[in-house]
Amino acid sequence: MITSGVYLTFLRMIPFNKAHISGKELFYIAQAVTQGELKGDGPFTKKCHTWLEERFGILKALLTHSCTGALEMAAILADIQKGDEVIMSSFTFTSTANAFLLRGAKPIFCEIREDTLNIDETQIEALITERTKAIVPMHYAGVGCEMDAIMEIAQRHNLVVIEDAAHAIMAKYRGEWLGSIGDIGTFSFHETKNYSSGEGGALLLKDPELILRSEIIREKGTNRSQFFRGQVDKYSWVDVGSSYLPSEIIAAFLYGQLENADEINDERLAIWSRYHEAFETIEEAGDVRRPIIPSHCEHNAHMYYLLLDSLETRTDFISHCAKQGSSAVFHYVPLHLSPMGRRLGNRAGQFPITEELSDRLVRLPLYCGLSREDQAIVCSAVRSYFSASQRTAVPDPMVANL
Ligand SMILES: *Cc1c(COP(=O)(O)O)cnc(C)c1O
Repeated sequence: MITSGVYLTFLRMIPFNKAHISGKELFYIAQAVTQGELKGDGPFTKKCHTWLEERFGILKALLTHSCTGALEMAAILADIQKGDEVIMSSFTFTSTANAFLLRGAKPIFCEIREDTLNIDETQIEALITERTKAIVPMHYAGVGCEMDAIMEIAQRHNLVVIEDAAHAIMAKYRGEWLGSIGDIGTFSFHETKNYSSGEGGALLLKDPELILRSEIIREKGTNRSQFFRGQVDKYSWVDVGSSYLPSEIIAAFLYGQLENADEINDERLAIWSRYHEAFETIEEAGDVRRPIIPSHCEHNAHMYYLLLDSLETRTDFISHCAKQGSSAVFHYVPLHLSPMGRRLGNRAGQFPITEELSDRLVRLPLYCGLSREDQAIVCSAVRSYFSASQRTAVPDPMVANL
């Protein structure tokens, strides 16, 4: 008989992320199918557009098949050309850089801040050259980059600001929604993000002059959207473009999630806060550093991470958690250290803070539907690691600054 708790724990590993149904997602998919048209820009896509525009006070929102697609559209809209330079942190996902590389531009990496792991705004200006076209702040873990400083620098140097808000839907910086502050914003609805349609994304615009072109780029370079509004009598090829729009099945599922945006956000925040409380004492003991949320930032519990004291500890910690039935994962090999980043001329040692913190960071399971019992298993896996280890703790200087 399999009754051993140890055996059951071994059988069942709490995943790091899990898809969930928040309400009417499947019903809406059925509705989309019975309406008889599944291509993009149908009723559910329009509902999502309106929801995003109203909720975040955005002039124009357009669903895309991914945040990657939205970033590619942003690069075309910002008129990024061969030889241009685009500033971003190296502690981000490949799509942040690829979107601009695809246009022939060069990503110029910047060091991150030690507290939020976001781009260090005080180091941006030194990287600006006559080729610089844009700054791409990515709000790590849904905690805002220092947008006031970034917007001010961009204005002074006439640069476009494209927010990679893949992590940051529903989060705020000084009372403003992330994704709505820069010239262009992007969201992700990938399975691992707070609101999901499996794969999905959105482009957010505040400049009315970009709307028409964005519709054209999204519809394979045609003026199809204008045609359907009756603004032109036939539609034709008018610009570069690709196919960036999702099908109605995707939009129907997404709308089911957006409708419950507040409930999802509350549930995630509750899980996040339970972790945060549970790990207070191990932070005080100097074993870990917990996430730092500046008082002017409202986060969305996109992730819960801990900073351990070294890469060796992290490797050991991840295997300890696995034995206890909990997954724990690391995140982002810095782009400048990746094979592609090195081919672009970057090297190890270039960004010491990025390199150190990315080695020390570990993410814990966080998803809607993560039960209290499973959260307790994660918490005890984490705490038992530190009570078991007899290492001499070196307090993190950032903790002392709290
Ligand atoms: C997830 C992610 C993306 C890409 O999102 P997709 O929707 O999967 O294309 C881009 N940037 C960041 C920072 C991300 O975390």
